[in-house]
Amino acid sequence: MRYGVVVCPKCRNPKVVLLSFKTSKCARCNKILDIEKLKIIYKTDSESEVRNVIGLINADNDGNYDDFKKMMSEQKF
Ligand SMILES: [Zn+2]
Repeated sequence: MRYGVVVCPKCRNPKVVLLSFKTSKCARCNKILDIEKLKIIYKTDSESEVRNVIGLINADNDGNYDDFKKMMSEQKF
């Protein structure tokens, strides 16, 4: 798995990270995110898939990521 989706704990902005990296900077609030300590809500090797996930989160951004994760596990792109 190369790509992960995390949510910034400060501003709730969903973000794609490379899982080989330890940190990533939030584009919205500039917070340095410690990837190893964040919950990875989605993992994939496909860049297009991870972009779809970000789009879906932005389209339905009610903050309920557990439901989102369940939905994703039942859905095929
Ligand atoms: Zn942020």
